[in-house]
Amino acid sequence: MKKTLLLIGGLCQAGLLAAQDFTKPQTTEFYDPKVKVVTPGAAYGQPPSDALVLFDGKSADQWEAARDKGPVKWKLDNGALTVVGGSGDIQTKQVFGDFQLHIEWQSPQEPETAKGQGRGNSGIFLQGLYEVQVLNSYQNETYSNGQAASLYKQTPPLVNATAKMGDWNTYDIIYIAPRFRRNGSVESPATVTVIHNGVVVQNHTVIQGTTEYIGPPKQPVHGKGPIRLQDHGNAVSYRNIWIREL
Ligand code: MG
Repeated sequence: MKKTLLLIGGLCQAGLLAAQDFTKPQTTEFYDPKVKVVTPGAAYGQPPSDALVLFDGKSADQWEAARDKGPVKWKLDNGALTVVGGSGDIQTKQVFGDFQLHIEWQSPQEPETAKGQGRGNSGIFLQGLYEVQVLNSYQNETYSNGQAASLYKQTPPLVNATAKMGDWNTYDIIYIAPRFRRNGSVESPATVTVIHNGVVVQNHTVIQGTTEYIGPPKQPVHGKGPIRLQDHGNAVSYRNIWIREL
């Protein structure tokens, strides 16, 4: 029965193809569905019309403490949100699947004694699980898969495009969430593309699983998740954060 149905399906498709006239350009054009119009930002980095603004420099209303979902205890000053060491990570109240994220960060002024992972460390956890590292990697040695724009402890950035201390960095992150089968196995892994200060540093990188400090990645089954920003004890600042679900 199944074979018969397949055969009929195949013949129908063949018939359909035969009926199409590929000598005409119109045969390979379609108008439906129409493409939605979006007004781009006025300048590079500014949110387009369909973006959800997560932080505009004035209010941290879209954010909560990751620890207890209470109010954010980071410092909101001068249009930036700055880590207050020991107050904990913060995360968006909303959760997201596939997205395009724009975020800007600045390393704090720190003495030369602050080195390696201790220099301007923070991080952006995609779906609360996968860390794109934030670090002052300007003339600062550390392990390659732990420097700025690495997928932490997995994939180093293609190049180091970190701005010098005091300058702002931009990340444009395109993230595709993992898909899981009903039995919990991975149907397709998560991937991430990161553009750092206009330079591609992660190019459709496959995410192996959670970005663990110790041990290999884990692969928990999950749905949508928040954007989480790390408190690693360094006063890293963030500004101009917006997201578009894809
Ligand atoms: Mg970090």
